[in-house]
Amino acid sequence: MSVKENLLHIQQDIPAHVRLVAVSKFHPAEAITEAYAVGQRVFGESKVQELCSKYDSLPKDIEWHFIGHLQTNKVKYIAPFVSLIHAVDSERLLAEINKAAQKANRTIPCLLQIHIASEDSKFGFSADECLGFISSGRWQTYSHVQITGLMGMATYTSNTDKIRSEFRQLKSLFNELKMKYFGENDYFCELSMGMSDDYRIAIEEGSTLVRIGSTIFGNRNY
Ligand SMILES: *Cc1c(COP(=O)(O)O)cnc(C)c1O
Repeated sequence: MSVKENLLHIQQDIPAHVRLVAVSKFHPAEAITEAYAVGQRVFGESKVQELCSKYDSLPKDIEWHFIGHLQTNKVKYIAPFVSLIHAVDSERLLAEINKAAQKANRTIPCLLQIHIASEDSKFGFSADECLGFISSGRWQTYSHVQITGLMGMATYTSNTDKIRSEFRQLKSLFNELKMKYFGENDYFCELSMGMSDDYRIAIEEGSTLVRIGSTIFGNRNY
């Protein structure tokens, strides 16, 4: 199946309130151009250098999302144009994004990455760390970032009950934060969860942003 067919198939599978981030990492600009031609405008990348060179060579109405682990020393390269940073996993990184955003004269939307999987290799705040940070109020001093929601990755497993329960925990943390700390701020509204193998479960559990790569573009050659 072609990129175009895969994309149209997934678009039909996703309800209108859920946005599709087409994860184009490790795929060439031509693959993005194919998806762009059938109307896809939101793309996700996980390497700074790759994102910058694609940004330079592709149409400027693309909304670029950074979905991978971001090193503080590389924030400055993407700060001028990135639309959403999905995986902010420390206050230190948030502070760095704030600084770079200020220099670039903009406010950058960010999601806090929450560790919900049982593998310990994955980055992110624990639910308690996240509650601690948000309840401290310190996030409000970072005037050039806007925390628009949470992101998480479920355990890589065929046990769908486990995946569902991890997504449910993330949604429940999201609800708690929204109710206690973001109440009147409508912008706290995004829940980035779901990839090729688990996006249907994620949508059932309240995802607003699914990050789908291989189902659209095929396998990646690392
Ligand atoms: C690569 C990646 C994806 C896409 O994964 P697929 O299984 O190819 O859909 C989603 N989210 C993150 C954070 C990724 O790094």
